[in-house]
Amino acid sequence: AAMGGSLLPVFAVVLSAWLVVGDPEEAAHVDGAPPSKIAVVGAGIGGSATAHFLRQHFGPEVQVDVFEKGEVGGRLATVTVNHNDYESGGAIIHALNLHMQEFVKQLGLKYRRSMAGKMAVFNGEEVILEETDWYLLDLFRLWWRYGISFIRLQMWVEEIMEKFMRIYKYQAHGYAFSSVEQLLDSLGGSGFINMTQRPLSDSLLELGVSQRFIDEVIAPVMRVNYGQNVSIPAFVGAVSLAGAQNNLWAVEGGNKLVCSGLLKMANANLLQAQVNSISSVHSGEALQYQLSFTTPTGKGSELYDIVVLATPLQTDGGSGIQFQGFPLPFDQLPSDYHKTVATIVHGYLNTSFFGFPDPRLFPYASILTTETPDLFFNSVASVCPVNISAGFRRKQPQEAGVYKVFSPQPLDKSHLKTLFRSYYSVQVTEWQSYPRYCSSQGLPSVELHPNLYYLNGIEWAASAMEMSSVAAKNIALLAYHRWNRQTDMVDQKDLMHRIKTEL
Ligand SMILES: Cc1cc2nc3c(=O)[nH]c(=O)nc-3n(C[C@H](O)[C@H](O)[C@H](O)COP(=O)(O)OP(=O)(O)OC[C@H]3O[C@@H](n4cnc5c(N)ncnc54)[C@H](O)[C@@H]3O)c2cc1C
Repeated sequence: AAMGGSLLPVFAVVLSAWLVVGDPEEAAHVDGAPPSKIAVVGAGIGGSATAHFLRQHFGPEVQVDVFEKGEVGGRLATVTVNHNDYESGGAIIHALNLHMQEFVKQLGLKYRRSMAGKMAVFNGEEVILEETDWYLLDLFRLWWRYGISFIRLQMWVEEIMEKFMRIYKYQAHGYAFSSVEQLLDSLGGSGFINMTQRPLSDSLLELGVSQRFIDEVIAPVMRVNYGQNVSIPAFVGAVSLAGAQNNLWAVEGGNKLVCSGLLKMANANLLQAQVNSISSVHSGEALQYQLSFTTPTGKGSELYDIVVLATPLQTDGGSGIQFQGFPLPFDQLPSDYHKTVATIVHGYLNTSFFGFPDPRLFPYASILTTETPDLFFNSVASVCPVNISAGFRRKQPQEAGVYKVFSPQPLDKSHLKTLFRSYYSVQVTEWQSYPRYCSSQGLPSVELHPNLYYLNGIEWAASAMEMSSVAAKNIALLAYHRWNRQTDMVDQKDLMHRIKTEL
């Protein structure tokens, strides 16, 4: 989801949810012994958090191996410009993302304050909406321009957030869910599941939000957070809108520090290796999985009792893992991920392009865009380094600064010349960023085989650091309960009521 900054009294990023298959009885170990080896594939926030929660639930004895073919952090990564590091992937975290908060606290990391900066919406020709210094004036303008729309929207998002927050209670009480659908259902009933299947624009129009507000405010937020339009499902749309001004933070030193910190705290073995295949192996009554992998020095294979896949499995640019000896519970692999190009430019912004010939009069730190044919970028924002010193101030538009541009395709020279008067450096990261959402898409399974779990199915409900963290906790609990045949801790109904009576 998003770049730094936020918008108006309402929006920005965060939340939410997932699935199962197989016979839970088969998962249980026959003699009641604990598992001896668990593998996690992927050391992004999802895999690192899974290793941490597995250690919490299974105790100190079990061996936890984490396979990573690239860098620890995955889609949390930084690039260096002029001796400073900047987030190029997942950047901002919402105040109510309680797992991320807890990780930062336990790891002794620091919050990075968000630097104030104004936001504007550009339609390809002019700025059509801008944030001012004065909250009441912004409120008044929104009211004037869009009527009651933004209040309705705010109430809708708050209600969804409130329901979503139930997950933390359920997880604290040890409850797990065998599918994304079950999880969503326990939080928000069929309403939440429906939200993963209908376009955001339909839900908002039904709510009484005006088309103009959708075009001028909602669409730009979807473009910056998910690179897509208002036909994405309402659930991920709500996640994208759920943040609010001043509620966003990041990790001092870079968000990826959470991943390396969690792996260390979990006492996990990090293997620099690409997993190529997984096959099921039956020895007597015990079921195990054989992972075959390639390291920088050769090939290897190992047997595990439990395996968690913490990487997207889509066909194009996915994990590349082959499954042998058992069928997967997908008709086909979940479809492709959206390409988002993050271009970090050190240079002088061409403020004339936005209607401000004199850069000294350009008041914005970030520019979102409406859905406009031929517009080659989704957003451009002045960004702050991951370490902000006490004396730090954001560069003025007349000075050379560091900017992040999100676009669906790499920028060519003429694009760069349009956005920048001149520049010193350009660094490009092409991300397989998040699912290419479509409202008829189902949610992939969490349980692929009795002791084989898939974390990133959650992203089809919504993709965000906290979503992967919620999925990590769910899978660690699920794997634990399956192993110990605790069926009364999985997919329980009426949890709000049960939890009250447990207390
Ligand atoms: C540009 C961009 C901006 C974003 N902004 C935000 C934001 O502001 N806030 C937010 O909350 N979220 C944001 N997100 C989303 C967020 O980054 C992701 O949801 C989250 O990081 C996913 O973490 P993960 O661990 O589930 O997956 P990943 O980070 O993708 O981790 C998977 C790991 O598995 C490894 N792997 C894959 N296959 C194999 C294999 N066969 N063998 C071994 N290792 C393998 C990969 O190398 C990778 O490291 C953004 C994403 C992008 C791309």
